[in-house]
Amino acid sequence: MIFEGFTGNDSLRQQLSLALDQGRLPHAVILEGPPGSGKRALAGILARACICTAQGERPCGICPACVKAKAGSHPDIITESGGSAARSFHVDAVRRIRSDAFIKPNESSRKIYCLFEAQTMSEQAQNALLKILEEPPNGILFILTCPSASALLPTIRSRSLILTLEPREESNLNPEADALAAKILREITLPEEAAVLKTCAPLTQNRDLLRQVLDRLILLFRDAAVLRAGGTSLTREPTAEELAAVLTRDRLLALTELAVQTRRRMEQNANTTLLVTVFCAQLRAVAGY
Ligand SMILES: [Zn+2]
Repeated sequence: MIFEGFTGNDSLRQQLSLALDQGRLPHAVILEGPPGSGKRALAGILARACICTAQGERPCGICPACVKAKAGSHPDIITESGGSAARSFHVDAVRRIRSDAFIKPNESSRKIYCLFEAQTMSEQAQNALLKILEEPPNGILFILTCPSASALLPTIRSRSLILTLEPREESNLNPEADALAAKILREITLPEEAAVLKTCAPLTQNRDLLRQVLDRLILLFRDAAVLRAGGTSLTREPTAEELAAVLTRDRLLALTELAVQTRRRMEQNANTTLLVTVFCAQLRAVAGY
């Protein structure tokens, strides 16, 4: 899976990727964690991964299904949310979902229901949800978010994969990583071969920074590919525009894939010095420089 913009939470990401790749996701996933920990962002990523039509890593971010989902207009991703008050997630909402869940998906082979603030479900609402989980229609996935899964009935919890998100750290939003990624983008096409390697040197000693830079690069390469294909930029990062002006879409997609693969090898605990060195060499080769 590609966890665009969702950092930290290493073991959770591994667990979720594996479950998705091996088709072992149950019909419900509960994302629990404190406010600001990225529950909704992760719910969106998981929902898109389920409907993405790409052959490789999902969600690819550029297939028509991903684009629709990102714009919030994919008909097979349905969102419901409770309010701030207790029991504000009413049984009627769950009943509507129940009847909708038995109607075939519109465009995807799956239907994804994101149920936010699930802790505000009344007991009646939870029991109605349980009924669906007991005999779920094919291809249904519920993604529930709440501060703690303990707010939900044990019978719901036992049918769900429960993932606990770490509190969001300040370091997850790192201007240093953004600046480094932008610098790398500019340097890929420079005549001096050593420039990228020099810029990447600090990354060999700092796994966190490496992770953040790779995440940012994945975003920027993909953004450049989208721009090259005539789409609109999500990052509005000028270096992505500059790169899109000089490289073909195929090369930009290959760069995205390279960053994704490097990111994966890093998670598999590869030696970072070697990883970064090879990555730098491949960046230029893939870009055709
Ligand atoms: Zn996709």
